[in-house]
Amino acid sequence: NFPAHNPGSSWTPGGSNNDTLVVDKRANATFVILARNSDLQSTVRSVREIEDRFNRRYRYPYVFLNEEPFTDEFKTRLSVLSSAKMEFGLIPHDHWFQPDSIDEAKAKASRDKMVEKNIIYGGSVSYRNMCRFNSGFFFRHPLMEKYRWYWRIEPDVHFHCDIHYDPFLFMEEKKKVYSFTITMYEYEATIPTLWKHVMDFAKLHPEFIAKDNSLGFMSSNNGDSYNLCHFWSNFEIADMEFWRGPAYTAFFEYLDQQGGFYYERWGDAPVHSIAAALFASRDQIQFFDDIGYEHNPYTHCPKNKDVWEKGRCSCDPARSFDYDGYSCMSKWDRFMETK
Ligand code: GDP
Ligand code: MN
Repeated sequence: NFPAHNPGSSWTPGGSNNDTLVVDKRANATFVILARNSDLQSTVRSVREIEDRFNRRYRYPYVFLNEEPFTDEFKTRLSVLSSAKMEFGLIPHDHWFQPDSIDEAKAKASRDKMVEKNIIYGGSVSYRNMCRFNSGFFFRHPLMEKYRWYWRIEPDVHFHCDIHYDPFLFMEEKKKVYSFTITMYEYEATIPTLWKHVMDFAKLHPEFIAKDNSLGFMSSNNGDSYNLCHFWSNFEIADMEFWRGPAYTAFFEYLDQQGGFYYERWGDAPVHSIAAALFASRDQIQFFDDIGYEHNPYTHCPKNKDVWEKGRCSCDPARSFDYDGYSCMSKWDRFMETK
């Protein structure tokens, strides 16, 4: 028998597990996780971490998406991790698979060439489907339509610090549309013609270009060339009204018509990033320094000691990717200083 009263212990038999809901105001928001059934264990790990670090006190819902039906095992294993609502959705065929308008012979020739050149995922069609889906379709999924804000999470990522406030409400109250934790250079070989198409689109649609945009972060010559800096989109907290709005809708449509998701290997990261940089003002893009985040092989860890302590962070600030030569963070800082 447990002692009925044990003043020396902070452990209360049958007592609180500290999952007390701390909020009275919430955003219209959801987590979104694209995963395969084979990603089960790594998806469990990611959800366990975001629950520990944030969501056990906020209870935002989850939407899991897959181009194949999720197994019962997947749903059961995920469902026990949170008291928040979880929905498991199937991606409509046309939102995922290579469209008939793509010339498969031409696409295959390009894939073969990328394999020869050892470009990561160069030979993969499914990776291209994923990038196109994340660029133009996840926010149109029926399960996503009811939400305005989303937080993208991937299998096998890590959240290194306690999050003591609601980043969704922060975004909403500060009128932000897009946020990031890591920014870096893209592999040029995956997007050889992307920038040219972006500039063609910008000339066709000057009405979509935001007044105080972030072109200066991505180009030092007013758009003649792209420095390859982009926000790493495996972490995103953003406003789907931005993706659903007229500028991005026309932009994605235009890029999709060029076929570069298949004839090249355009990533959703540069596509989202360039859109945020051009169609939003710089003040609408948020760098979340206090969200310690890791996606192999890089980690963002808060540099400020108070922030790091308050977050009980499990990452090493000295090894934050911000200081890596491959990071675009110093460029972003300098860009934000030059108003
Ligand atoms: P990387 O981060 O660029 O190396 O790419 P990942 O392999 O992590 O894929 C990005 C996201 O898409 C992750 O959430 C994956 O689980 C998901 N993903 C990638 N390929 C597929 C696929 O073929 N089907 C499904 N359902 N999800 C995929
Ligand atoms: Mn990944």
